[in-house]
Amino acid sequence: MAENQSKEKEKQTWRNETMPEPFCRCWNGDSETEPGDPDCGCGEELDIVKWRWEAPRRGPKWVDLYQDKKQVVFHPFYSSGTAVAKGNIALKHNVHYYWEIKMLTQPYGTDIMVGVGTSDVADAVRDYTTCLGGTENSYGLSYTGAICQNGVVVDDCPGFCKGTVIGIMVDMFHGTLEFYLNRVPQGILFIDLRRHKRLHPMVCSTAAQSSMRLTYASSWTNSLLINAAKVLAASVTGQRFFKNMPPGLARALKLDFWIPLPSAGKVLQDDSERYIRKRVKERRF
Ligand SMILES: [Zn+2]
Repeated sequence: MAENQSKEKEKQTWRNETMPEPFCRCWNGDSETEPGDPDCGCGEELDIVKWRWEAPRRGPKWVDLYQDKKQVVFHPFYSSGTAVAKGNIALKHNVHYYWEIKMLTQPYGTDIMVGVGTSDVADAVRDYTTCLGGTENSYGLSYTGAICQNGVVVDDCPGFCKGTVIGIMVDMFHGTLEFYLNRVPQGILFIDLRRHKRLHPMVCSTAAQSSMRLTYASSWTNSLLINAAKVLAASVTGQRFFKNMPPGLARALKLDFWIPLPSAGKVLQDDSERYIRKRVKERRF
């Protein structure tokens, strides 16, 4: 009995200590200072980036863009609030989108987030806030693991650190949004994105000299083919099928449909109470 209890407790502690991880081993150890150091190219092999970041045209200059506008550096000198960078595309109904962002610096401070939002989201906020997910007009995943919408933490996940590859899959045919951490799906939490006419990819940060890079961004118009690929990818037999495919065909498939493939596409149930860490739950929007 006592052993069972301690085992139970062990499990809880483990759950409580879910830590973010880098995508590859290159980022372990040494220098925490330079943005992008050591800046490996792991997970960036496909070199498909169909859109870019945009710095706000008005307001304070809190966002610098580099590498053909794929890399964002927030608060290049010091931070006096929450800076936002938006993608230069609008997500259209009936199109599937997937993009990946690599965190290049060690996250710290009030919040660093990735997500989507409408044009109602401010370009800059003179306060340190959890900007994405603070209202009904945006959805955000924080480095702390909080997944936010409408001023509420709806779920908890390991979050991200320097070197993590964060994926965002938006299916504007079904209206769903799913976050990925190092290509592992975190479950579909949002299913009503079609209520928005225009959504944009977004990132935000309160931390001085924090930086991230858009490493992959593609989209696919909804079709029977793409839906079939998604169903296959979500099934065990389907995954075996993809693994045993001839290399040439596998490559073509990867280029065209890389994205929907590793999706679990699992919709998380609303009625089950999810465990959310205290430090994740108690935050300022
Ligand atoms: Zn690497």
